[in-house]
Amino acid sequence: MSRYVVTGGAGFIGSHLVERLWSNGHEVVAIDNLMTGRIANLDGLRGKTRYQFVEADVSDRFPDVGKADGVFHMASPASPKDFVPLAIPILRVGSLGTMHALEYSLKQGSWFLLASTSEVYGDPEVHPQREDYFGNVNPIGVRGVYDESKRFAEALTMAYHRNKKVSTSIVRIFNTYGPRMRLNDGRVIPNFISQALHGEPLTIYGDGLQTRSLCYVDDLVDGIVRFADKRPVEPINLGNDHEMTVKLLAETIVHLTQSRSSYSFTPLPEDDPKQRCPVLTRAQKTLGWSPSTKLEVGLQKTIDYFRKIL
Ligand code: NAD
Ligand code: UDP
Repeated sequence: MSRYVVTGGAGFIGSHLVERLWSNGHEVVAIDNLMTGRIANLDGLRGKTRYQFVEADVSDRFPDVGKADGVFHMASPASPKDFVPLAIPILRVGSLGTMHALEYSLKQGSWFLLASTSEVYGDPEVHPQREDYFGNVNPIGVRGVYDESKRFAEALTMAYHRNKKVSTSIVRIFNTYGPRMRLNDGRVIPNFISQALHGEPLTIYGDGLQTRSLCYVDDLVDGIVRFADKRPVEPINLGNDHEMTVKLLAETIVHLTQSRSSYSFTPLPEDDPKQRCPVLTRAQKTLGWSPSTKLEVGLQKTIDYFRKIL
């Protein structure tokens, strides 16, 4: 049994990770300031042994949670809808929050994992994206606050690894979906499913020919927990390499929900990446991991979840 700390533990991915670590027999401390997460995401663990929730903003300070074998630093708003209203908290958590988590890891001798993102590749000119691609990011655009915050967090992580000998890993997460995404999250899956279930037009941004590759959350968490055993230093992409257009995704969701919704086309947001798909060779080689959930299966589980909460 190990003792792990998960920042952002009440969020969408964080709460699934906390549950998985706990189910694997570990002790888990979830830290969250509930900015975009919900304590209800962790209701299943309330009152259990080997589990603790601490409400704290890691950008201010890292709470004293005792010794830990590892820190999964998942805290950060992640939806493009939040990139303007939460611009400064996003920059704070990527910089100060990451530094506090690294300092804690240094002090406690803990392994540290940074939850980074495919957004470090920006609007990629190299396709699909391998980890050695440096990216194409507009530092002063509206997405820049998130992209640069994560790029800075990666640089900081490597500096603590090189200069202070902290054992660190970096996971670059590609678009992930599943139960516990917020209904009003603004990301494409909650928007399309909620619109389809309400019989409203699905809001396709641009012509809908931009692509994404969507990973079901259980697969992603399978991959993340493997980092704790292998502790690779080089960044590793995790996601699904089944690439599709946003338009086809909309049509698939309308089909699966048996909705009578139509489609409405609105302008593409600034700097919206035109294409995105991970190369997963490193994940396969280093972690022995590849995603296994078919899109229709993951979407159906997510639709069932949204039906229940609506
Ligand atoms: P989320 O918003 O559901 O979870 C983030 C959690 O972090 C929330 O519970 C939030 O309240 C908490 N948080 C934010 N700032 C904090 C702070 N200063 N102190 C303490 N807690 C704080 O988002 P998510 O989709 O679950 O994303 C989790 C992580 O994965 C993020 O770091 C995100 O950048 C990364 N990521 C997610 C995706 C995806 O597709 N979901 C893709 C790439 C990267
Ligand atoms: N998108 C869309 N309609 C929506 C929400 C998003 O067409 O209601 C598009 C968005 O422009 C992007 C893709 O879906 O091309 C994925 O968007 P999301 O916000 O989920 O994540 P991103 O990959 O952009 O960070």
